[in-house]
Amino acid sequence: MLNTEAFYKISYGLYLVSTELNGRLNGYIANTVFQLTADPARFAISCNKDNLSAELISASKKFAFSILEKDVDQKIISRFGYKSGKEINKFEDIEYFSGEMGNPIIKQVSIAYFECELEQTIDVGTHLLFIGLLKNNEMLDSDKTPLTYLDYQTLRNGKSPKNAPTYIKPETEEEAEKVVKENIDKLSKYECLVCGHIYDPTIGDPDSGIPAGTSFEDLPDNWVCPDCGAEKADFQAID
Ligand code: FE
Repeated sequence: MLNTEAFYKISYGLYLVSTELNGRLNGYIANTVFQLTADPARFAISCNKDNLSAELISASKKFAFSILEKDVDQKIISRFGYKSGKEINKFEDIEYFSGEMGNPIIKQVSIAYFECELEQTIDVGTHLLFIGLLKNNEMLDSDKTPLTYLDYQTLRNGKSPKNAPTYIKPETEEEAEKVVKENIDKLSKYECLVCGHIYDPTIGDPDSGIPAGTSFEDLPDNWVCPDCGAEKADFQAID
């Protein structure tokens, strides 16, 4: 018998894993980064096989991870955690620098970063476990506090995206019911429980052709969160 509630009590940090292959950059948000050995320093990361990063890291034989700071901009989490590098260039319009090994690092959200050379890849079903030897690391701002997975879940109402190793299937019926119950005021703002995106009816969703003045209730059933692709049932009324 499994108790999924207990899964939420496992402590993690949150990291931005990145890599570079022949000038192509990609990265994703991971909570599964951990140190395996001290001498030499060796780290493991878990990456969904469907992610572009899994392909890129397998070929580039290197990866970096940055420790995210507590006040990291939600836009970075949305873009790197909930969008696919197969569809967008996640580093477009983002200020970054290249580490010694060529991995892209976003200084303004990172406390420190680590660059590893891929040493072993272990197939663990849905994910690849990449094990790397530390080749280079740097402290960028030791005064900042690291973002933990608990902070993310409690302060930001964040959930694991479907590709995360720690994803837990939501009670969708219950969630859908909740949305209906709370959908009393048609012009309420709604928040995406997955990524924190706010749907504001006074603005609509111009990128999807939804005009200002469209209530959340009147959005088409196939409308999805513009930031993370979550469905309407993943939104909750605020105000
Ligand atoms: Fe979202």
